[in-house]
Amino acid sequence: MTEHQTKVLIIGSGAAGCTAAIYAARASLNPIMVHGLQPGGQLTITTDVENFPGFEHAVQGPWLMEQMEKQAAHVGTKIMHDTIMKVDLSKRPFTAVGESGDSYVAETLVIATGATARWLGMPTEKKFAGFGISACATCDGFFFKGKEVLVIGGGNSAVEEALYLTNHATKVTLIHRRDSLRAEKIGQQRLFAHPKISVIWDSVVEEFVGTENPNSLTGARLKNIKTGAVSDIKADGAFIAIGHTPNTELFKGVVTMDADGYIVTTPGSTKTNIAGVFAAGDVQDKIFRQAVTAAGTGCMAALEAERFLAGGH
Ligand code: NDP
Repeated sequence: MTEHQTKVLIIGSGAAGCTAAIYAARASLNPIMVHGLQPGGQLTITTDVENFPGFEHAVQGPWLMEQMEKQAAHVGTKIMHDTIMKVDLSKRPFTAVGESGDSYVAETLVIATGATARWLGMPTEKKFAGFGISACATCDGFFFKGKEVLVIGGGNSAVEEALYLTNHATKVTLIHRRDSLRAEKIGQQRLFAHPKISVIWDSVVEEFVGTENPNSLTGARLKNIKTGAVSDIKADGAFIAIGHTPNTELFKGVVTMDADGYIVTTPGSTKTNIAGVFAAGDVQDKIFRQAVTAAGTGCMAALEAERFLAGGH
């Protein structure tokens, strides 16, 4: 049970955490980055990444995150294979306690704990995840050029994903469990008016179906929850857009959050309601959710921590 002292403690090791670490280390702030439950974050559960600038050809998500972490370590970040279980942000320096029993005493804190995509939860969804099933149309839509795809969900994400996918797919079918969408009206109007999009109401996915070795999605079995009727639909891809859960449990009641549990930051900044505590990446962003935007806010958080330590605001 060791006590670690640092000027900048970073919780989370996805694109936001790693970028904050790189900038803080290069500012000689000797940051500590605590890995968390999913080292590398959401990119480690994707396959091809084609939209992170700097690579001519697609790179693999896990490889990209391995490189980011190595870069953070190379410039001087201390990386801890630990998960923070408790924080005390009532006074500075802040303290955090890891699952290992180690404690971390920090002058500033960067929260980069990310968000977790919600999944429907059936085994066939897991089986075809990355082989036709995705939770991010911006990331994977391109791979469905000229193909037919499903989008599951009825919120703003589902509507945006469906509209985005029309850029690539020939046919997009939105499947929603009720008979009305919760997405904003303007999005709904665009969706209903789009010639490539159709909606199947009152229906849930019972199973995903596909071929094995190599795994490849070919469609889904749907159930109408009003009539009980079961039907099969053909699809090359399925995008699950039933929401994300921000990983903010640790900070409840202490750091200001919105109604969905995302950390609220000052516009144009990564500052939270607590001086010296910054939030970067998907934990404070429910709109863009991209690796590159997470990296961008990670950079901002480190620069703001540096300014704060220098006596700025
Ligand atoms: P939401 O929670 O708003 O919507 C989730 C949708 O998925 C709902 O329609 C819900 O159905 C459905 N759903 C949930 N669980 C299941 C399940 N197990 N099976 C089938 N369907 C399910 O999530 P979003 O990601 O769309 O949005 C999250 C937040 O981010 C919202 O506040 C949203 O407004 C915001 N957002 C804003 C954007 C923007 O401003 N550009 C873009 C994207 C998101 P039901 O309706 O029946 O509950």
